[in-house]
Parts: sequence; C-alpha cells; structure tokens
Amino acid sequence: MTRGAGPVDEAQRRARTLGVLGGGQLGRMWVHAAQAAGWRTVVLEPDASSPAGAAADEHIVAAYDDPSAWAELAARCCAVTTEFENVPADALEAMATLAPAGSAAPAVAPAAAAVRTCQHRAREKAAFVAAGVPCAPHRRIESEHDLHADGLAELLPGILKTATLGYDGKGQRRVEDAADVARAFAALGGVPCLLEKRLPLALEMSVIVARGRDGACVHLPVQQNLHRDGILAVTQVPAPGVPPATAEAALAHARRLAAVLGYVGVLCVEFFVLTDGTLVANEMAPRPHNSGHWSLDGCDISQFELQWRAMAGMPLVPPRQHSPAVMLNLLGDLWWPPDIAPGAAPGDAAREPDWASVLALPGARLHLYGKREPRRGRKMGHLTITAATPEAAQDVARAAADRLGLPAW
Ligand code: ADP
Ligand code: MG
Repeated sequence: MTRGAGPVDEAQRRARTLGVLGGGQLGRMWVHAAQAAGWRTVVLEPDASSPAGAAADEHIVAAYDDPSAWAELAARCCAVTTEFENVPADALEAMATLAPAGSAAPAVAPAAAAVRTCQHRAREKAAFVAAGVPCAPHRRIESEHDLHADGLAELLPGILKTATLGYDGKGQRRVEDAADVARAFAALGGVPCLLEKRLPLALEMSVIVARGRDGACVHLPVQQNLHRDGILAVTQVPAPGVPPATAEAALAHARRLAAVLGYVGVLCVEFFVLTDGTLVANEMAPRPHNSGHWSLDGCDISQFELQWRAMAGMPLVPPRQHSPAVMLNLLGDLWWPPDIAPGAAPGDAAREPDWASVLALPGARLHLYGKREPRRGRKMGHLTITAATPEAAQDVARAAADRLGLPAW
C-alpha cells in the first residue's frame, strides 16, 4: 500500500491497473503495450527476475497456485489475463469472484473455461468439432485398453501427443504401427494422450483474432509459419503459400471458434494446409502468440494492444498491416555457435550475437526479452524485418539470417 493512500486513491489506482498471470516474454510485450497507453501493470510470477516482472509496475512474486496471491492480484487490478496456457485455470476462476470491499471482482479474460479447453488436446479437438472446424482424425489413448481398440490402425502412421502440458514439440512421439504406439505411450509416462493421424503438410499457418466482451471480433492477417525441431523459426506475412480462399476460410474458422467459446481476448489458432490444399486446424493458444510478434512492427495495432483493449473493454478496430513483415525467432542456440562445445557451461563460452551486423540492415528491428541465461532452444528474442514489398522483406530477412548464422528457408 502506498503511504497515505486512502481507499479512494486505491480504488482509482486499481481502475487504472491491469494484471497478468505469468512473467514470460508475452507478458513483457503486453506490459509494454499497456503502459504505452497509460495503464499500470501488475505481474504474478514466481521467478523474481522474469522478463515481464522486470517491465511491470508491480510484481507479485508468488506461485501461480497460491490463493493468497490470487487475492492480492484481484485486489490490485480491474482486469486480469494470462500469458501462458498452463496457468492453473482455477486461478482464473477464483479471481473472477474475488471482489475487494466496495469494488467489483476483476474482469478475467479469457475466462477459465476457455483456457481449460485449450489446455487439453481432447477438449480442444471437441471444441473444433463443435464449431464445425475440421481437424486431424484422432482418438484418446489413456490406458492399456485403448492401445487395443478397434480403428487404431486407421490413425497410423500417427503422432502420439500428451493431452496436457505439451509445447514446442515436447510431449509427442511419431508412431508408425501399433507396437510403436504402445512404446510411445509408455515412454510418455502412461499419461493421458491423444493419437492423431499424421497428415501430409504443405505448410503451417496461424490466425490471431481478438474478441471483445460485446462480441466484436477483429483479426490479424494470416501468418505462414516455419518450424524447426518443433519450435517456430520464421513467420511471414503476407503468407506466400496460402491462397486467398484458404486464408478466408481460416479466418472464418477462427472467428467462429472464438464465438462458440464465448471468448474474450486474443486467441491464436494454428492450422495445417495439406498437400491437396485442405485446411485443418491443429491447436489453439488462449493468448497472444509467437507467430503474432511481427504485428508490433508491421501493423498499426499489435496483438498485445488488442489484448489490453479487450481486457479494458476498449474498442477493437481491425488492425491494418502497413508493411510486409518477416519474423525470425532468436533462440539461445545463437549464443552457442557451432565452434563451441554443446556441453560447455552457460556463461563460460556463450557469446552475444553480433546485433550490429543485423541492425545495419534496413527495416530490421531487434526485440530481446531480457533473459539472462541463453539456453539452447530457449526463446531469447526475435527480429522483425519490415519493407515496402514482401520480396524486399524476404531478401533482407534472408540476409539477416545469413549474418546470424541461421539456416536459410
Ligand atoms: P505443440 O503444442 O508442441 O506446438 P503441435 O500439436 O502444434 O504441438 O505439434 C507440433 C508440430 O508437429 C506441428 O507444428 C507440426 O509441424 C507437427 N504436427 C503436429 N500434428 C501433426 C499431424 N497430425 N500431422 C502432421 N504433422 C503434425
Ligand atoms: Mg503447435
């Protein structure tokens, strides 16, 4: 509490403060966007030196499942969101009822129910089906019994994915036959899984929509995504390989999903385009998404601005892309060039990439998340290249990748 602040001051401050569960880079960029418009921000995150915590006005250092921390957050802000999907949905549910004396409970967006749906691959697929959005053929594998169920062969070759907690390609195994499924199920710890038919992908893309409490829904242009080792590597907008009709269909699917979920806030839906042109939804993220980072530099309104506007009940207007953009993810691997042994201790040999060489390129903007330790596979930052034409953005992005030692695409 600020010294001398009375209840009126506190209520006024709360009405100008937005909160987030999670202290990662998504939270950090959301904090920046909210602060630019004069909002105070508060982060609940157990790590005392997190990317978002370092940027926010206030940082509650506590576990995500600590009810006293929920009460603290609810007391300090008028609206709450999450920046990662594995936040305890109970926390969101509880905060939506925690009204400090004389004030309303914070507006929670997205709601716990929508986050719960996105946290479980089977519930997520059920939501796709309910919204009439095509997805990969699949079935639950949750016990030995399920390994011998009829119809398993139709899903092979497939991918066995843990139902919860998977990300960046972690928690999944490619499987060729029934024996493989059994082995993979055991290797994944016998936890509830989903077996999906492996589909012939031509490309991957994503759609980001933002929906307000009044049901108004806007979107970013579709994004074409290239993954390496299960982690997003490159996003291109406009999407060079996506026909306009496919883009329209994906946007319609994402908007319908948001409506069916009664969703409030920013939602990302990942899609596959198959080799025969068919569009299939893969998964959803109930938050801003790595594939939307380019919008900070290529659009008049970014995904992070959309998130605070949706939370604060401010108007959502369609973002306008003013520049073609290419985003390159910057993983910790860049600090460990090939001549440094992979086993070397962090700090011993890690070296900062030569940022000056890429920032000398026109239209290149560097975003670093303030993470101290550059581990392999860890998202340390991203580089966005904007230009007057998609071709120019591509050319500069390829030059940037080359200067950083990233593979070509
Ligand atoms: P994560 O939560 O780790 O991002 P995804 O379900 O998105 O998990 O899978 C990671 C990647 O694996 C996808 O981006 C895609 O390249 C590939 N993949 C996932 N499911 C399928 C599938 N059914 N068929 C073919 N490739 C798939
Ligand atoms: Mg994915």
